[in-house]
Amino acid sequence: MQITVLGYWGAYPAAGEATSGYLLQGKSKIILIDCGSAVLSQLQRYIELSDLDAVIITHYHADHIADIHCLQYAVMIDTLRGKRQNILPIYAHNEDKQFEGLTYREYTEGVAIRSESNLLIDDFDFSFIKTVHPDPCLAVKITQLKKTITYTADTEYFDGLVDFARYSDILLSEASLYREYENKVPGHLSAAQAGKLAAEAQAGELILTHLPRYGDHKQLIKESREYFKNRIQLAESGLIIK
Ligand SMILES: [Zn+2]
Repeated sequence: MQITVLGYWGAYPAAGEATSGYLLQGKSKIILIDCGSAVLSQLQRYIELSDLDAVIITHYHADHIADIHCLQYAVMIDTLRGKRQNILPIYAHNEDKQFEGLTYREYTEGVAIRSESNLLIDDFDFSFIKTVHPDPCLAVKITQLKKTITYTADTEYFDGLVDFARYSDILLSEASLYREYENKVPGHLSAAQAGKLAAEAQAGELILTHLPRYGDHKQLIKESREYFKNRIQLAESGLIIK
């Protein structure tokens, strides 16, 4: 299992970078998880868009879905030019009217996923849990050959997330907030809470992502270190997680 970080900014991207987007490559399938602002541009550094097999969207906030409609145009053009044969499935929950927009003519198809459900693609087993966020959002756990990566998507701290992420080899956690804003911004974790989550879940390693557009990110590591003693790193463009 290999994940390449395409974008790690919360809210809006820095110049030349992207908000949430993660490229998951397995034995025979290529899957995009979240498709935020500028992710489509970053994705083409690594793959041909016509090789993409599936997309999973955690929720419908712009920093996770902004590029999805341009991706649909790419699928249409590749299909019309004979470069792509298959419809592109886009998996997401359907508790939002925007779900309907994931189906685009005969080129892409929105496929509903529910929390507490499983999705099998290739030899990846995806499971989901509804997070605590102003709009419905799903955290994603990816298991392959007994190795597990859990991606929190956007969420507040809640006990169910600890159980969901338990014994993950890697916890890819949002860390939108410095300590000073902890519990003051609904629906997001501080870096310290990400550290606490990793410690409580007994994760092997913590990667902080969905980072704030201000301050010194090294401070986020320090704040999560107060709780979590194993390896902690900051997500960055092109970071490969194995
Ligand atoms: Zn977000």
